[in-house]
Amino acid sequence: MTETFTSVSQEEAGFRDRVRLSFDLDADICVIGAGLAGLSVALEAARIGASVAVLEGRHIGWNASGNQLGTVMPGFALPLADLIERIGFEDARELWALSKEGAELVRANATEENMPGIGLSDGVLEVSNVDAGDRLISRLQMLNEDFDTEVEGWQVDRVRELLRTDRYFHGVYYPKAFQVDGRKYVHGLAALARRAGARIFEDTPVVSIDHSGIRKRIVTPTARLRATHIVLAGNIHLGAPLRRLSETLLPVWRYAGVTAPLGERLHEIIAFRGSVMDSDGVDHFRIVDGDRLMWESPETTWAARPQRFAGAVRRRIRTIFPELGNVEITDMFGGATGQTVHGMPQIGQLRKGLWVASGFGRQGMNTSAMAGQMIARSILWGDERWRLFSPFELVWAGGATGRVAGQLVGMWGRASSAVAGSLARYREHARARDRVREARLAEANRAAGTGPRRPPSSVRPRPVPPPKPAAQDTEQGGEQGTEPAAHEAGISR
Ligand SMILES: Cc1cc2nc3c(=O)[nH]c(=O)nc-3n(C[C@H](O)[C@H](O)[C@H](O)COP(=O)(O)OP(=O)(O)OC[C@H]3O[C@@H](n4cnc5c(N)ncnc54)[C@H](O)[C@@H]3O)c2cc1C
Repeated sequence: MTETFTSVSQEEAGFRDRVRLSFDLDADICVIGAGLAGLSVALEAARIGASVAVLEGRHIGWNASGNQLGTVMPGFALPLADLIERIGFEDARELWALSKEGAELVRANATEENMPGIGLSDGVLEVSNVDAGDRLISRLQMLNEDFDTEVEGWQVDRVRELLRTDRYFHGVYYPKAFQVDGRKYVHGLAALARRAGARIFEDTPVVSIDHSGIRKRIVTPTARLRATHIVLAGNIHLGAPLRRLSETLLPVWRYAGVTAPLGERLHEIIAFRGSVMDSDGVDHFRIVDGDRLMWESPETTWAARPQRFAGAVRRRIRTIFPELGNVEITDMFGGATGQTVHGMPQIGQLRKGLWVASGFGRQGMNTSAMAGQMIARSILWGDERWRLFSPFELVWAGGATGRVAGQLVGMWGRASSAVAGSLARYREHARARDRVREARLAEANRAAGTGPRRPPSSVRPRPVPPPKPAAQDTEQGGEQGTEPAAHEAGISR
């Protein structure tokens, strides 16, 4: 159902007194958590006509949802090649199409009319840290032809024309991916949900639920609520209401910083206007406010003050763009993402009337919008598309041991990608040195009247590489095997 909304005022956009639930209430749907996931469910369900109450323990967008970069891409945190391997080509295509729909839902919400100052702009570039042109071509073909996604392959020269660094090689440009002001988006979503009739209560942690009956009971320190459906959208902080669900997520804190204004030189060094992310999932950045750089980089599996990582962000910027020198970081922020063992989000019905929407990892913008629509439509219209996520059951993430292992896997991934990047750059420099040496040799031979005995390697015919059996995706994404089962089956260890 499409509805027209008038724009969100400052007050509605989050700068209003928080309302705590202090009286008992009845609703069709109770959503726990006012992050992107909970608000997306609330907006869609309220638009369709359900009575919805959202209970938020802190405030809207308190965690990752209010501290993210606002890049909107198709796909999931799990790389596409792994998705295909896991569930087969046809199902992967359906899931990919849903993820694209999610991105389009965000676009439809994030208009200037709905969310003034949201600053939507098109175009996202994924750059490779290694020289992997052939892999890129098969990936481009697959995305374009089989997954109906508009992408362009950029040669190294083009990437380096727009990003002055020798760290990046080829690029995949997504003209239809886009970015918005991430913080404004979550508050805008809350305002749209309120407009549609949802009631949002902040400072209202849910301490327990009883989901056994038809009318379910939800308990907060100050009030009780009864609802036919509960949607668990608390991400890693859900806690007491269903602790075993939180334990299926590996918390990963991600941090980002914004530099002081850098002036015109920033545009000389970074001429690309949209978001840039590297194919190993290490760096993610874009220019904001005209001449500041917003840069997301380090991650940990424990909570820390984002300010602690200002030095790490500054060093990372200097490593990638040495010409920028030592930039000043004026603002740091971050939040915890919930990563599942298999890398795919948890979307579906656990028991009759008990729903889950979490585990969106570092790609939550499009996927939470998609989840919100599917869950609301399933509750109200019987839409069964969420069952496509059933192969990705709830798997215990390993508790404290899991976190340590997660950190080690993350460090290994980063270290090996750094080594691969150094090797690629070394080979590139070596090739350049060879070309110079061969040109000098040829020149010397010409001068001596002997002529080159064999053409320099740069003009020698190259061997044709064997065809790749399947496209490879170079994104990072820890993955372990899991048992296939429907969500309704519960949590496996
Ligand atoms: C630095 C950073 C940059 C990112 N950049 C991007 C990006 O550019 N693009 C992208 O697609 N994704 C990005 N992400 C990922 C994205 O932010 C997350 O996937 C998404 O925000 C997860 O939303 P969520 O609603 O599931 O969780 P959360 O944002 O964690 O929201 C859950 C909410 O539930 C509340 N809650 C929990 N338990 C209870 C309870 N018992 N009672 C009441 N309330 C409760 C919490 O207080 C919280 O507010 C980024 C993340 C980070 C950290």
